[in-house]
Amino acid sequence: MRLDLHMHTTFSDGVYPPEEVVARAIAGGLDAIAITDHDNTQGVVPAQRAARGRIRVIPGVELSARWRGQSIHVLGYFVDPAADSLVAHHHDLHARRDERMRKIVERLAEQGVRLPLGRVGDQRASGMVPYTRPHLARALVREGYATDVSDAFDRHIGAHCPAYVLVESPGPEEVIGTIREAGGIAVWAHPPLRLIDKLLPCMVDAGLGGLEAYRPWGRGVREAVAAHARRAGLFVTGGSDWHGRDTDGDLGSFFVREEQVAGFLEVGGK
Ligand code: AMP
Ligand code: ZN
Ligand code: FE
Ligand code: FE
Repeated sequence: MRLDLHMHTTFSDGVYPPEEVVARAIAGGLDAIAITDHDNTQGVVPAQRAARGRIRVIPGVELSARWRGQSIHVLGYFVDPAADSLVAHHHDLHARRDERMRKIVERLAEQGVRLPLGRVGDQRASGMVPYTRPHLARALVREGYATDVSDAFDRHIGAHCPAYVLVESPGPEEVIGTIREAGGIAVWAHPPLRLIDKLLPCMVDAGLGGLEAYRPWGRGVREAVAAHARRAGLFVTGGSDWHGRDTDGDLGSFFVREEQVAGFLEVGGK
């Protein structure tokens, strides 16, 4: 069994709608995927419908949190996509991300990068999809302010740029609670090694279930993260974090095997 437990659709900053993501996952030889859009679960049911039993679609989400001025992400797996806690998080983050995008656009304008908010995010499945920076990056490319998305992040909207504004998201413990209330397993997405020692104990106390160790990272980093998970008695998960960008490659070119995430699947997949 080949699995990919982390990917995005047009219900966040992915390029393709859920139906197309499912078709590409099948074509790429995957047996199971998780749809993990930022801060909302609207893409899960459309993906499950499109799957028609040909591939397993695990309901997921990737929640934004902030800790000491830094952005971190927590994945929720096997959640009820319609859970009250997730609906509340979605509405809250939709508003906060709206406000934050407005501020970034304002700061860019002060630097002479004039891009009306109305030009940002037209790839989104609907206006209920929270804004993320890749939406803005693509608009900057289209309007000629950047040569490509990575140039847009480097010169205009990366965390080191003057126009950057952090999303006012809840703390890690709170988003772990949101996932657990929705019946899910909380997994720290792409945990930076430099933060693990500081942040892991309080996240475990809040009910964290796993660490995302298997990603298109170097082998050394993967193994170091997996070792932290084993020491803390946590599950290990993995996924490509596919957004459908030109630089992402095809779905299925990165995968984890069932054996690598067996304990996690058993507990979640009841
Ligand atoms: P946001 O949560 O709105 O700040 O956006 C975060 C998202 O931006 C991440 O999930 C990535 O998909 C994307 N991202 C962050 N840094 C880069 C980068 N240097 N190049 C391309 N995408 C990036
Ligand atoms: Zn993203
Ligand atoms: Fe992320
Ligand atoms: Fe992601």
